[in-house]
Amino acid sequence: MDAPVQEVIKQHLIDPEICIRCNTCEETCPVDAVTHDGNNYVVDAGICNHCMDCISPCPTGSIDNWRVVTRPYSLQEQFSWSELPTQEDVAVNAGGAAAIDALEDDVSRLLEEARKGLGGKPVAPHSAGKPTVNLYNRGKPATATVTGNFRLTDAASDSDIRHIILDFGNQPFPVLEGQSIGIVVPGVDAGGNAHHPRLYSVASSRDGEKRNANNLALTVKRVDGGLCSNYLCDLPRGAKIQVTGPFGATFLMPDDPAANIIMICTGTGSAPFRGFTERRRRAMPDAAGRLLLFFGARRPEELPYFGPLQKVPEKLLGKFFCYSRVPNEPRVYVQDRIRSEAGEIAKLLADSNTHVYICGLRGMESGVDEAFADACRAASLDWSALKPAMRESGRYHVETY
Ligand code: NAP
Repeated sequence: MDAPVQEVIKQHLIDPEICIRCNTCEETCPVDAVTHDGNNYVVDAGICNHCMDCISPCPTGSIDNWRVVTRPYSLQEQFSWSELPTQEDVAVNAGGAAAIDALEDDVSRLLEEARKGLGGKPVAPHSAGKPTVNLYNRGKPATATVTGNFRLTDAASDSDIRHIILDFGNQPFPVLEGQSIGIVVPGVDAGGNAHHPRLYSVASSRDGEKRNANNLALTVKRVDGGLCSNYLCDLPRGAKIQVTGPFGATFLMPDDPAANIIMICTGTGSAPFRGFTERRRRAMPDAAGRLLLFFGARRPEELPYFGPLQKVPEKLLGKFFCYSRVPNEPRVYVQDRIRSEAGEIAKLLADSNTHVYICGLRGMESGVDEAFADACRAASLDWSALKPAMRESGRYHVETY
């Protein structure tokens, strides 16, 4: 008689080193299998039905991790991790081995569907610095002091976007450009639970707002009814706040003066690119690589850092501003401007030392993708092959919400 088929499952896990704790997966999961504590976002193996709905919305790819196990990792185990366990050899009989093969086929097929259009898993640029992640969490947050809170947008504009500076005093808070931090809003939600930390990209470079200051800046837009944005925008100088992170291990800039960097953003999605530009200016002012910024806003008065950006020399940063709501002018989105610069863009995309970064509104992602495809087509390049190749080699990065 054949031995009974051994129980094996393909367990869905979230990589705590890459996850930026943005809560997207928990909001997306239709069966409430994703949950979190002050440390990690985790998946309950008893509930997850492998529907894959969470895969494509995850901005980092940390959600796309799997282990074949005979005993699923418990929630408590996952909460305690600072990195994922490696895949262990699973000792099973022949029936169990066949079950593993069937599982692999099943999950691969579903994943392939879910990953369509994503262009592969995100990877950090090879030359990027090694990021520190998860140094502080909900249970053990860092305390920062607000040392600046300036309005960036015109006083007459409805859009209140602020530059907020947080100083960490003697606490170490190492960040790299492109990383994010979590802001803990005091109090509890309607269900009596502590608010989950809200994520903001670091808008300064690794050595602070001024060289060697232990501080960083955020770019925050006040959103009507927004819990965290109103909390942050109303903070006076001297206020103390709790911070988690740093988070993010892939949306990092190449540490290579020869690298070309194409940065595409809308609104406050410009935050990481302020950090990238400042890093280039300080660390490699004579870099041979091009730095290009495609930046979309409704009007010049609503474009964060409009004034300071005007002063950044063209040699350091090529700027393409795109306005969608200037009276009596046609609407221009970032993808329109990419199309009008198609020749230079295609030349850069053909160069194996070019990196692309997209940050801001989720809606622009498909438009930018189509603009790149058009630019490539006109130059006889195949974007459908180039994009996944760039992604796999750490040269194509998206962080949209
Ligand atoms: P916004 O002011 O609402 O929009 C900026 C510009 O993008 C406007 O000109 C808008 O045009 C245009 N736009 C709208 N849909 C577009 C599309 N499909 N393709 C191209 N352009 C489009 O932007 P925001 O409120 O600042 O939002 C920025 C986003 O960045 C938010 O989703 C935020 O969560 C995210 N983000 C923020 C940070 C941060 O650290 N603060 C970091 C990363 C990402 P119209 O409105 O005229 O259509």
